[in-house]
Amino acid sequence: MTRLIRGKEMALSIREEIKAEVAKICLEKNKVPGLAVIQVGENPASCVYVNNKKKACEEVGIKSFGYELPAQTSEQELLDLVDTLNEDPNVHGILCQLPLPKHMDEFKVLCRVKPEKDVDGFHPVNVGLLSIGKDGLVSCTPAGVLEMLIRSDIDISGKECVIIGRSNIVGKPVAQLMIAKNATVTIAHSKTKDLKEVCKRADILIVAIGRPKFVTAEYVKPGAVVIDVGINRDADCKLVGDVDFDSVFGVAGALSPVPNGVGPMTIAMLMKNTLHAFKLIEGIAE
Ligand code: NAD
Repeated sequence: MTRLIRGKEMALSIREEIKAEVAKICLEKNKVPGLAVIQVGENPASCVYVNNKKKACEEVGIKSFGYELPAQTSEQELLDLVDTLNEDPNVHGILCQLPLPKHMDEFKVLCRVKPEKDVDGFHPVNVGLLSIGKDGLVSCTPAGVLEMLIRSDIDISGKECVIIGRSNIVGKPVAQLMIAKNATVTIAHSKTKDLKEVCKRADILIVAIGRPKFVTAEYVKPGAVVIDVGINRDADCKLVGDVDFDSVFGVAGALSPVPNGVGPMTIAMLMKNTLHAFKLIEGIAE
């Protein structure tokens, strides 16, 4: 029997919790958390993500400030906007939707966001804090993966955890979070030898590679927990994960679907990070 890890339902509960907390703080402090969402150019996927983020803000009572800049915006103009938002007392979180146009240095732009407003958790200060186990803003997708495991009552301590993918935004931070929860962590990637055998060791298998339906039952130990981070379009333009759901369902002990798995959790964690940043900046105790 495979249990479904229903990210969409968990994300809705988290959003309800955040909404209640925001309403309470707004009443007590007469202040509203603010999130600036910057998009440069009109990448269709980015437009969908940005709209979903703004909608989520509206729903939980966070004020969103949208900045849609033309693709030909210069890097300096974007940096100037970030500087302005860094100093804006109504803005507690700043996110620059990636990818940025090719003429911009993404790393330079991400480094310009003040670490305490870096709700995407991409600033080297926040990445460093995560790696030394200190409080900071943790990037949203990895935080969402951990929250899904916790809310599903999955024991992490002492478990074999294999993560496929070593990107800075998913694989590496997920690994740090799992180490902090006392898992024994292996990071596999495109150069890993005997990938199936490595994956079959996992009690918890987290897949973030960007290859549609790559992970089949042959990669999964019976009873393992499988979290699918992938978001891909198949030949029919249907949204599919990195895990072949039909193949793995029935073998895994628990499995997160795509859609309605990690994706909604990522947005819920963005709301959580914005509320956290707001509390830190305004000196409100957790
Ligand atoms: P990336 O391209 O930056 O990294 C992919 C990683 O997978 C690399 O480390 C690479 O070594 C590894 N890899 C690629 N092919 C492999 C193979 N055949 N075998 C083993 N390893 C392989 O991707 P990313 O940004 O980490 O994203 C991964 C996936 O997660 C994508 O589908 C992306 O759309 C999705 N994603 C989802 C969310 C969400 O909110 N659910 C957020 C971010 C990314």
